[in-house]
Amino acid sequence: MIIFGMSPRTKTTGTGTFFCPHCRTSRSYERKEGRNYFSLYFIPLIPLGKPQTYIECSTCHVTFTAEVLSAKAPPAKADLVTHLNTLKTSLEQGTPVEYALRDLTIAGVDRDVALGLVKSAIGEARRICPEDGLSYAISVTKCSECGTPLPL
Ligand SMILES: [Zn+2]
Ligand SMILES: [Zn+2]
Repeated sequence: MIIFGMSPRTKTTGTGTFFCPHCRTSRSYERKEGRNYFSLYFIPLIPLGKPQTYIECSTCHVTFTAEVLSAKAPPAKADLVTHLNTLKTSLEQGTPVEYALRDLTIAGVDRDVALGLVKSAIGEARRICPEDGLSYAISVTKCSECGTPLPL
């Protein structure tokens, strides 16, 4: 009797630290490559399909796709306070709200959190540039992008 089947084989191709979404903290990981093999008498012979790369948390052993490595840890509370202070200053000095939001998002702040930060920094009132539609804190009188005076 010929015994054949499929068997997965994995190998570790790298290690490092990452933010584990399951542990919700910084952990070490193993980068693994898995591939299915056609096997005969339990000996893997022919690789089938493309190898799959995945990331396994060394602590909880939950696996993730490689994109997890580019995910950022949520900012600590102290960071948010720093953001809030610099945000208020820069918005009052003429940074468009849209740019501030973009910078916060790039810094890893959730968009909803970023919107909340802007609101606590300068309130809800805005001046809108009639030329390019950028919005500013009420204390800003001139669009920093095109120089157009901002109507109230
Ligand atoms: Zn984990
Ligand atoms: Zn403008």
